Amino acid sequence: MKIVEVASELFPYVKTGGLADAVGALSVALADHGHEVSVFLPGYRAAAEHKDALGAERRLRLKIELGDQFFTGDVRVFSPRKNLRIFLICREEFFDRRGLYGNGERDYEDNADRFIFFCKGVVEMLRLGELQADIVHCHDWQAALLPVLLREAERRHGVTLALKTIFTIHNIAYQGVLPRSVFARTNLPDELYHIDGLEYYAQINLMKGGILFADRVTTVSPRYAQEIQTPEFGCGLDGVVQTRAEDIVGLLNGVDNSIWNPAVDALLPARYSAVNLAGKQVCRAELLKRCGFAAESKGPVFGIVARLTEQKGIDFVLANADFFAGNDVRLAVLGSGDKRMENELRQLAEKYPERIFLSAKLDETMSHLIEAGSDFFVMPSVFEPCGLNQMYSQVYGTIPIVSRVGGLFDTVTDADLNPATGTGLMCDPNAASLRDALQRALALYADKPRHAAVQQRGMARDFSWQIAAKAYERMYQEAL
Ligand code: ADP
Repeated sequence: MKIVEVASELFPYVKTGGLADAVGALSVALADHGHEVSVFLPGYRAAAEHKDALGAERRLRLKIELGDQFFTGDVRVFSPRKNLRIFLICREEFFDRRGLYGNGERDYEDNADRFIFFCKGVVEMLRLGELQADIVHCHDWQAALLPVLLREAERRHGVTLALKTIFTIHNIAYQGVLPRSVFARTNLPDELYHIDGLEYYAQINLMKGGILFADRVTTVSPRYAQEIQTPEFGCGLDGVVQTRAEDIVGLLNGVDNSIWNPAVDALLPARYSAVNLAGKQVCRAELLKRCGFAAESKGPVFGIVARLTEQKGIDFVLANADFFAGNDVRLAVLGSGDKRMENELRQLAEKYPERIFLSAKLDETMSHLIEAGSDFFVMPSVFEPCGLNQMYSQVYGTIPIVSRVGGLFDTVTDADLNPATGTGLMCDPNAASLRDALQRALALYADKPRHAAVQQRGMARDFSWQIAAKAYERMYQEAL
């Protein structure tokens, strides 16, 4: 198949979260399965300056209409491996910035123009670059305008640009809601500014457009596909998602096991596997050292790697500060984001330096060390479209403590409720239920044979992208 992936993030070029990991690994897996894969990405500074992109060649000059103005740019392409090409939609004014969506304080004011330009750039490349896509797969709000733009461009020019479009919701909490005035920048027919189109409470909602106009809609876990059809999880789009109930399917993300695999992980001080866990102890010792904890710490180490947002249940962790301060346990947190959460965690780390540690940086090496060196991984999300760290944790022999939502529900089995099959501990997304799970973690840790059995079952799980990519291939084929 000729497959086009369109996303705002792509590992290893630009990443703020799991979206980058998912699109990166999916694209590589599809290319390795022999498909002709083209990935479109905004020409962010980080991508344009990446060593792979240094020899990128210019493929097309762009002249994009946004309302009654024209904006120029270009499309550059490079190929990091066989069957895989990366197309950067470039315009320095829009994308040659350090941030992707904002400056750290607030969103960029021209985000509407930036991402409409991006989507229109993709349409132009499909139209003039003769890519003849079988599938155009759009990810999240930044690419959500593409299905309707493609349809309109096909109508206007009397051509076929994509046989089928797919829209994947990686997180319905981020929808790309923009002022009504922005609608003119899309140059779409006025009738699409309608309740059955992009209109959303007198504004425009890009994700709504993706859900309504793509041929198929997917989410990144089966549970999340169900959840977002309810008011509790739908973030105001549950009614819209319900209209596509027939066409929506949840496909779990996978783990890129060339990167997240303790047997080959080059970012760790030692490697290990289920049959020989000695290296995990080396990683644990290194983690204790990096956190400034005593080398002889006996109690369990709890790890967290997350964007600090309400989504990740950080407030439930904060509400259980006394658990971490008052028991023979350690807590290592890697995460940044919400300043209040960051400050509260920092204060705890300053008050209890022998037990609690915070690094508020983006630190790929540290994220691997926490996964490998911790005994438990804490992820009590309020909602979780798929989640990657709970899968990494199982593969790394680190027992996940997760809430029963979304992808966490689909990928972890509670060891107390299912003694023969459990791989983790589960709670409800609230502080009291997390407390109960933390207490159960202490009991599990104290029971060495049971702890080892849970750990071994987690390490035996196969979350590889080979499986995930096959599910996508099947879905593409069904759509065609
Ligand atoms: P989300 O996409 O909602 O942020 P996921 O669990 O799907 O959550 O993916 C998060 C990814 O980002 C993981 O690969 C995780 O290790 C990584 N990550 C989050 N915060 C940091 C950080 N401070 N440093 C390094 N990696 C991080």
